[in-house]
Amino acid sequence: MAALRIGFLGLGQMGQPMVRNLLRAGFSVTGFDLSETAMATLSQEAGFHAAASVQAAAAEADVLILMLPDSKVIDALLWTQGLAQQLRPGLTVLDMSSSDPVCSRENASRLTALGLHFVDAPVSGGVKRAIDGSLSIMIGGEAAHVDPVRPVLQAMGKTLVHVGGAGAGHAVKALNNYVSASGLIAVCEALVAAEKFGIDPHLVNQVFNASTGKNNTTEHKVENFMLSEKYNSGFALALMRKDLQTAQGFIARMGTPGGFANVCLQTWAQAEQALDKGADHTAMHKFVRSQ
Ligand code: NAD
Repeated sequence: MAALRIGFLGLGQMGQPMVRNLLRAGFSVTGFDLSETAMATLSQEAGFHAAASVQAAAAEADVLILMLPDSKVIDALLWTQGLAQQLRPGLTVLDMSSSDPVCSRENASRLTALGLHFVDAPVSGGVKRAIDGSLSIMIGGEAAHVDPVRPVLQAMGKTLVHVGGAGAGHAVKALNNYVSASGLIAVCEALVAAEKFGIDPHLVNQVFNASTGKNNTTEHKVENFMLSEKYNSGFALALMRKDLQTAQGFIARMGTPGGFANVCLQTWAQAEQALDKGADHTAMHKFVRSQ
C-alpha cells in the first residue's frame, strides 16, 4: 500500500515536533499555519511542503491532521469557510487538537454525510513528549477509520488507546486535563502555604515525590518550571482554561456532580485574567503566590 499523504494544519508548539516525527517516519507532509514564523521553522525540513493555504495543504492529502487551538477555530475552518465541502471524499480528518467532544461528534456526522471519515486523536504529554514521539494518544472513531491511520499515530505517540466512537477521544482528553489541572492547583497551594510556614518548597516537593502526593506536576513541573520561575513549559494557560471549560461543560451535560470541576475552572479563569496574555499554564504557581 502506498504511504499515506498527510496534510497538517496548525504548526504551533505541538504541531512542529509532531510533523518532524512524521517526516522521520517517512511520511510526506504538506503543512499550513497562519503564522509565517511557524511555517518558516519547518520549511528547511526534507519531505515537508509548505502550502499557501488550508485548501492547498488538504488538496493531495489522504489524511488531514488538525492541531489547532480549539473547536471554534475548527468549526470556522470546516463550515464557515467551507473547507469540508472542498475535501476529497474518502479523506480522513484526524483531529488531534484538544477539541470539544460534542462539537466533534457533530463534525463526525456532518463529515460522514459528505463521504469523509472523522477520527479524533488528541494527545497528552506536552511539548517534551511531542519531540521524542512518545505522546499518549486517545482515539475516538469507527474502527474501520481508525485502523488505517494507526501508522500515522504511531509515528507521533507511544500509547494509543481507542476509547470509543467519534468524540470519545476528545472527552477523555478533556477529563484527563481536568484531573491534571486539579492536581496542579493543589500542588501550587500546598507549596505556597508551606513556604509561608518557613519550609523550603524544594524539600516539600521532594517529600511529595517520595509519598502519596506525587503527581505529574510534582514530577515534571515544580522544579523545571515553577520553583525555577521559568514558567515556560510550552502549554499556554489559556489552552488549559479552554480544556477545563470543555471538561466542566461535559461533566455538567452528563448530569454528574461537578462542584470540584466548577471551582477548578473558576480558579484557572481567575489566573488567566490576572496573568499576562500568553502566560504558560505553570504560571498558576505565580498566581497562587501573588494572592
Ligand atoms: P499553539 O497556539 O502553539 O499552536 C496552534 C497553531 O495553530 C498556531 O501556530 C496558530 O497560528 C495556528 N492556527 C490557528 N488558526 C489557524 C488556522 N485557521 N489555519 C491554520 N493555522 C491556524 O498551540 P499548541 O500548544 O500547539 O496546541 C495545539 C492544540 O494541542 C490545542 O488544542 C492544545 O490544547 C493541544 N495540546 C497542547 C499541548 C501543549 O503542551 N502545548 C499538549 C496537549 C495538547
